[in-house]
Amino acid sequence: MSTNISRKLQGRQALISGGASGIGEATARLFAAEGAAVMIADIDDANGERVVHEIRQAGGLAHYRSVDVTDRTAVRRMVHDAAVELGGLSILFNNAMTNPSADYTEDQRWNLMLESGLSAYWAAAMEAAPILARSGHGAIVSNASIAGARMGIEFASEAYSAAKAGVLGLSRKLAKRFGPDGVRSNVICPGIIETPRWRGPGMPEPQFARRWRQMAPLGRFGRTDEAARLVLFLASDDASYITGQDIAIDGGFTMAMRFES
Ligand code: NAD
Repeated sequence: MSTNISRKLQGRQALISGGASGIGEATARLFAAEGAAVMIADIDDANGERVVHEIRQAGGLAHYRSVDVTDRTAVRRMVHDAAVELGGLSILFNNAMTNPSADYTEDQRWNLMLESGLSAYWAAAMEAAPILARSGHGAIVSNASIAGARMGIEFASEAYSAAKAGVLGLSRKLAKRFGPDGVRSNVICPGIIETPRWRGPGMPEPQFARRWRQMAPLGRFGRTDEAARLVLFLASDDASYITGQDIAIDGGFTMAMRFES
C-alpha cells in the first residue's frame, strides 16, 4: 500500500460495495487514508466489520452495512443509508459481484451474476446520481473486467462476460446522462488481481496462470493496492475531466493479445 498519502478525498463520502475483501477492501482502506468517510456494503459481515474496525484504529472514518446486492430493494436502501450515515455521498464504487457455486443451476447462476454484477450497479447508480450531483464532486466508478468488456476469456462464464460487458454500456450512458449534473462515470477493467476470488471454486487452472505470466508484458498478477490506486484516481479530482472511459489494469495483457493477433 502506498505511504504517499495526500488527502485527495478529504471531506468526501464514499460507498463501496464488496468492500470486505480484495479490490473493494484495498479501496476502502486507501479512500479512508485519503480522508474520505467510507461505507463498506457487503454480505460478509465478519470481514466487513473487521475492515471497518481496522480503518478506525488507523484513524479513518468507516461504517459497515450488511447488504446482499442481489436484492435490488436493499441496493437502493444501501445508497440512502450511506448518504444519511456519511452526511452525503460523493463517490460510488460499484464493485461487488456474486460468484455463485456449482450448486446453483445454470439459470440461477446467470440470474445471480447479472443481478449482482450489472442490475445492482444500475440500481445503485440511478439512486445515487442526484445525491452525487449535490456533492459537487460526484464520481461513479464501476468494476468490470477484461473478460467480456475487452475480450473473451476461456474460463469466464457467459454470465460473467455478459455482465462485465454490460457495465461498460451502463457506465457510458451514466456519463452521458449525468455529466451535465457534474457526475462522472468510469470503469476499471482488471486482468488478474490477486484476491481471495482467485482461491474460490471454478477458478482457472495453474497452466492458465502460468500462461498469463508469460503473456502479460509485466509478467505477473496485479495487486489490490494497484487496483485501488486506479479507483482513487478516477474517483478524485485528478480525473476531473475524464468520464465515460474504461481503463484496463492488466499488466498489458490485452494490449499484447491485440498486438499478436
Ligand atoms: P473478492 O472475492 O476478494 O471480493 C468480493 C467481495 O464482494 C467480497 O467481500 C464478497 O463478500 C462481496 N460480495 C459477493 N457477493 C455479494 C453480494 N451478493 N452482496 C454483497 N457483497 C457481495 O473479489 P475481488 O477479486 O476483489 O472482486 C471485486 C470485483 O472485481 C468483482 O466485481 C470482480 O468481478 C472484479 N474483478 C476482479 C478480478 C480479479 O482478478 N480479482 C478481475 C476482474 C474483475
